[in-house]
Amino acid sequence: VSAAQPADHVIVVGAGPAGLITALGLARGGARVTVLEAEAAIVPSPRAMVYQWSVLQGLADLELLDAAIERGFTKSDFEFRSLPTGESIRWTMELLGDETPHPFNVHLGQHLLAEIALERLLQLPGARVCWNSPVTALEQDRAGVAVRVGDDPDAFVRGAWCIGADGARSTVRRLLGLPFDGITWPERFVATNVRFDFTGAGFCQSTQISDPDHGAIVSQIDLGGLWRWTYAEPADLPVDEVRSRMPGRLSALVDDAVDPDVESFQPYRMHQRCVPALRRGRVLLVGDSAHATNPTGGYGLTSALFSSYALVPALLAVMDGAGDDLLDTWSADRRRRFVEIASPRASELKRILYTERDPVRHAQDVADVRRGASDPDLLRERLRFSARLASTLTLG
Ligand SMILES: Cc1cc2nc3c(=O)[nH]c(=O)nc-3n(C[C@H](O)[C@H](O)[C@H](O)COP(=O)(O)OP(=O)(O)OC[C@H]3O[C@@H](n4cnc5c(N)ncnc54)[C@H](O)[C@@H]3O)c2cc1C
Repeated sequence: VSAAQPADHVIVVGAGPAGLITALGLARGGARVTVLEAEAAIVPSPRAMVYQWSVLQGLADLELLDAAIERGFTKSDFEFRSLPTGESIRWTMELLGDETPHPFNVHLGQHLLAEIALERLLQLPGARVCWNSPVTALEQDRAGVAVRVGDDPDAFVRGAWCIGADGARSTVRRLLGLPFDGITWPERFVATNVRFDFTGAGFCQSTQISDPDHGAIVSQIDLGGLWRWTYAEPADLPVDEVRSRMPGRLSALVDDAVDPDVESFQPYRMHQRCVPALRRGRVLLVGDSAHATNPTGGYGLTSALFSSYALVPALLAVMDGAGDDLLDTWSADRRRRFVEIASPRASELKRILYTERDPVRHAQDVADVRRGASDPDLLRERLRFSARLASTLTLG
């Protein structure tokens, strides 16, 4: 394995947003980076589309934020609706304006953020991206890592370090023998990209609907009329009839619903899972390969971005001679923030929006949202929540 690999060469497995943004950060810091992606192009499936205010400075530092805002848009208003009681509660995040230059979220499909990162990456010397390059085997020793691409036993790529950013079904994680402990939720989530006049139907640009049968999140994806409508349904309903159930599902949310113009949709099984450590030797896991969450609250890619922002300076420092225990500190901190902060909150939000059948608890949930929306100090504290997912490592 250790035969003659450059000490500053990092292999990144996966050209999703976590892989490309980590590769970009490393290449900007002077590392040589090879990204290996199994598919022929960036995967466009409907997934993350909200970037919370707290991750935006990191995107700005990578010079990605302006392009992200240009291709997407910023928004700061929210609505929570209770279908059982008919109550609507609205708030904005503008009061964060005195503590961040970015008191808003950015909306943009994650494949478009990945494309912006890819464009920037390919402008840097020492960076390359190899498509149609599935990693199938991995070996490491004290000096380096070798990964095999495809079935050719001689097609090895060698590097000093390897980052597994190959998603929730990570091959790298499996090759390391790391368990992915946690749970799989009984529900099926359906994420749709639809063209429907939700504004005309009275929705704000990001609306959470709480109901045990019709819970949903409706968010505007772009300024051209595309919206994300995500809902949950029992997993024992036939998956091949998801599309035909949509008009009925939509009619629970809007008056006079017609069959929506569905541009794309994807049913998902959802998990709360995490590896015991995000580092094994010279291999590090970033993004869904390390931790998976149900999407309520938008903490999946948020966690991935914060992992990446902290890993890049740590790994650059180690490649520059710092002790590699820095990477163990990074791993422990990222795991703790996911398991103790992000994952419980995502599970709680999922309960509130999609599964709570007890009317007393539902009333308590609604009262709690109402309290947060009307008390500026409480609202500020709640809006700050996602910043708790960030790591602040001391590089020594
Ligand atoms: C419906 C839905 C909505 C979501 N909304 C949000 C949101 O608003 N905000 C948020 O923060 N998060 C959200 N998430 C979570 C977010 O989508 C994920 O956290 C994010 O995709 C993780 O990015 P990643 O790069 O780690 O993995 P992925 O995006 O899965 O990318 C992994 C890449 O690795 C490649 N790959 C896989 N195996 C191999 C191999 N063996 N060799 C080479 N390449 C390989 C894949 O082809 C893929 O390109 C949502 C998720 C879902 C399902």
